[in-house]
Amino acid sequence: MPVSPDRPAAGRWPADLSAYCFEVPYSESSLLFESAKGVRLRDAGGREFVDGMSGVFVTCFGYDCEPIAQAVSDQVRALPFNPPLHGTNRPALELAARLVDLAPAEITTAKLVNGGSEAVEAAVRLSRLYHRTHGNPGKVKILSHYHGYHGSTFGSLSLTGRPDVGRFGPGLPGVVHFWPPDCLESFTGVPYEESGRLAAALVERAIEAEGPDTVAALVVEPVIHLRGMAVPPDDYLRELRAVCDRHNVLLVFDEIVTGFGRTGRAFAAQTFDVTPDLMCVGKGISGGYAPLAAVLTGRHVAAVLGEDGGPYAFAPSHTYAANPMASAAGLAAVTLFGEQDYPAVVRGLAAGLEPRLRALVGSRGAVRALGLLYGVTLHGDGTPGPLGERVARACLERGLIIRGQDDWIVLAPAFTTTEADLAESLQILGDALDAVLGGGR
Ligand code: PLP
Repeated sequence: MPVSPDRPAAGRWPADLSAYCFEVPYSESSLLFESAKGVRLRDAGGREFVDGMSGVFVTCFGYDCEPIAQAVSDQVRALPFNPPLHGTNRPALELAARLVDLAPAEITTAKLVNGGSEAVEAAVRLSRLYHRTHGNPGKVKILSHYHGYHGSTFGSLSLTGRPDVGRFGPGLPGVVHFWPPDCLESFTGVPYEESGRLAAALVERAIEAEGPDTVAALVVEPVIHLRGMAVPPDDYLRELRAVCDRHNVLLVFDEIVTGFGRTGRAFAAQTFDVTPDLMCVGKGISGGYAPLAAVLTGRHVAAVLGEDGGPYAFAPSHTYAANPMASAAGLAAVTLFGEQDYPAVVRGLAAGLEPRLRALVGSRGAVRALGLLYGVTLHGDGTPGPLGERVARACLERGLIIRGQDDWIVLAPAFTTTEADLAESLQILGDALDAVLGGGR
């Protein structure tokens, strides 16, 4: 276990401060980033890295997007903060309207928050409030996927169906997990592509077993990141919508990874043609220029705010929610997103990249792709240890940032990635796969 160092005598801090800050893991591999341009980052030692992950699905417009930087800098001079109990600010209002505009037609209202976890918390609170307002105060349980990830605040962490969450002790009461489609194949033999209906039927059995009058909402990532980008079978989300409708359960899409063009449409809801009751969005929303996220709701859900104390029904809200600077960053990002038709850009880039990635991986793994979201489940070479981490490390050593865990790696290039960036990324990834798994394209 790493040992926290003693505090140095006043004013005598060492040159390397990493041991004093939780933001930097205690490991040789953590980098001290100092600057960035396009999709390339530079560290304190002057090494350059191509960012194949858009930060972490965030910096879709690259690290030097002048219109967003300008909007933040103008706003910080005009109004950096406003008294949140007494009003709001114009960028927040305009951003909320623009977000609603991007979402499916049934979505009418946006609540701005500071990060994805807060958006998930807000969705849970609103779901419970919705049922309470409709005379069903017993509908409080929240269902979510095993292996889903929904954040790191206590409620969102409780929805995160991974064993490592257990080290924090019991989670939020009333959370029930269910198996996503890609987990079924190994014990049912039903091929993944055909497992959507079966997986949704199991969710319906779970709701029936819990008692439909106790279930408030189903919270799902349309594409499950921590399963190596498990793109669902075509009919799965549609079937979940029908299950929710049958049992008066709200369907919440956690689109914190899949939102803002990643899947080739504004949101995965449109890609899969399924409208949820609530959507949590974040990450790409500001392109990384400010902490920002939002929960978007359908008209029927937004209505409960009117019936139950207006906007204060959300209380306690967050001091920095709908902050003018963050809202200005989001407004500039969303404006750019529309003006440049980034979903079309994503579809164009993806059409070129997907076949190249498949050819590169060859028989060494199974590729899942949707827009500019890529997951590769790697086939083992018999060597013990998590393959995904080994490949990601080999990439990092060669100058490419990707994510790797368990048996998978994930890539999510920025929308502004150039052909030169892509060519270099693929070259490095190929070399890393060769080094870890051997040839076999
Ligand atoms: N939901 C999903 C699907 C995520 O991937 C994340 C973060 O990675 C979150 C929620 C939490 O977002 P944040 O880290 O901004 O709190």
